[in-house]
Amino acid sequence: MLNSAAAARRALPSIDRLLKLDAVVTLIERHGRPLVVETLRAVLDGQRAILAGDSEGIPPADDAVSEQCRARLHELSQPSLRPVFNLTGTVLHTNLGRALYPEVAARAAIAAMTRAVNLEFDLGGGARGERDSHVEVWLQRLTGAEAALVVNNNAAAVYLILNSLAPKKEVIVSRGELVEIGGAFRIPDIMARAGCKLKEVGATNRTHARDYEQAIGERTAAIMKVHASNYKIEGFTASVAESDLAAIAHRHALPFLNDLGSGMLIDLEAYGLPHEPTPREAIADGADIVTFSGDKLLGGPQCGLIVGRRDLIEKIRKNPMKRALRVDKVRLAALEAVLRLYADPARLMRELPTLRLLTRPQTDINAQAQRVLPALAAAVADHADAAIVECSSQIGSGALPVDALPSAGIALTPRAKRKRSAADALSTAFRALPVPVIGHIRDGAFILDLRCLDDESGFIAQLGGLRIEKHEPRRRKGAKDAQDANK
Ligand SMILES: *Cc1c(COP(=O)(O)O)cnc(C)c1O
Repeated sequence: MLNSAAAARRALPSIDRLLKLDAVVTLIERHGRPLVVETLRAVLDGQRAILAGDSEGIPPADDAVSEQCRARLHELSQPSLRPVFNLTGTVLHTNLGRALYPEVAARAAIAAMTRAVNLEFDLGGGARGERDSHVEVWLQRLTGAEAALVVNNNAAAVYLILNSLAPKKEVIVSRGELVEIGGAFRIPDIMARAGCKLKEVGATNRTHARDYEQAIGERTAAIMKVHASNYKIEGFTASVAESDLAAIAHRHALPFLNDLGSGMLIDLEAYGLPHEPTPREAIADGADIVTFSGDKLLGGPQCGLIVGRRDLIEKIRKNPMKRALRVDKVRLAALEAVLRLYADPARLMRELPTLRLLTRPQTDINAQAQRVLPALAAAVADHADAAIVECSSQIGSGALPVDALPSAGIALTPRAKRKRSAADALSTAFRALPVPVIGHIRDGAFILDLRCLDDESGFIAQLGGLRIEKHEPRRRKGAKDAQDANK
């Protein structure tokens, strides 16, 4: 017995022989020799292990080995980070990459990637320049601020302003604003890491002007307001108006810092959307420094924008950590292109995907639902019923958490008894498509909110490849739906 297993192992094809097969030669052309040899070895090792445990086993044919090798290499050649269909109903989904670049920004980014650029080079004087200068004029124009800086994201912006303006000193914040934005970003933690002491004032629901006044002392370096991006305190509440906070700060010669979070550069009400505070309003209300994200409502690349008083901006710029948190030429190029779009509201509306998606009328989405329904119904015909449903989309990324946007989608309701696991199986099957489709599960149905479906024909074309498993394996512990987007 043992001898025959050993004989079978010895009878495995040799690497040299396999490398001469036509199919393997093709693989070498596509993937390069080292990767093919490595993969063949791995496949043979696997076979050897199987034969060691099975005395009756027969060694695989050359073709079978080369086919296994092809499959593994195919898997390996799939990019890990790749496009998906975001049909979650959350437009700015943090886990799905937030804002989509407008075409002009993508083109600017590619030019910056592939050619030398005047990143830190003053073309007028021929001397060294400042990388943030490319976007500063636009930010001045759009926010009314004296000066601007760009860093990696808004978390970095908050860290950098605190670390620059209040090291070893106290920063006063209301207890109603000690925000957490996605697991790792909490105001108290950022404060500590930035080397400041958080001075909490007021209560969760109510903070008054006198709370701030009484907290100001010798060690105070700033008063800070943090926008309650992803929650709302309702009922018996009180907070201090920003202009009053600014006045209190200025009476004590302190800077007033305002972290807006999303911060939209234009008034969204003009587009029929709920109001979101703008940096221009914050500056007009007396903020000395305002911070906001580039890839939330603004609809640009990931970055954090710091605008405000020139003397403070200069101080922040000189912090050595600015270097560690700066953005690269690619994102600066994209940001400049996006900010330019804001100069022309009509173009902005047409070309900025974030704004276009947020303002898509429900009738338009509903018409699309009618068009894609037959293909979806056919693709799931053996397992589920498909029907058009009303949805309410969310803006996402912590913007305007309580306001939902009326939308439309398709609900796929499994006919199986165990609805939840059948809906999980549907969700798994859609995620396994060449361009994975991400939806969400609600009341035992798999829901696809169509607000963000742009490539309709591409979506329909791949539905033929949908493979739904009868029994979804038990959910992994800790596995979550794609609904954890408000961060
Ligand atoms: C989103 C947000 C941040 C963090 O911004 P990122 O761009 O995710 O780094 C900070 N503060 C507030 C109030 C936010 O809403």
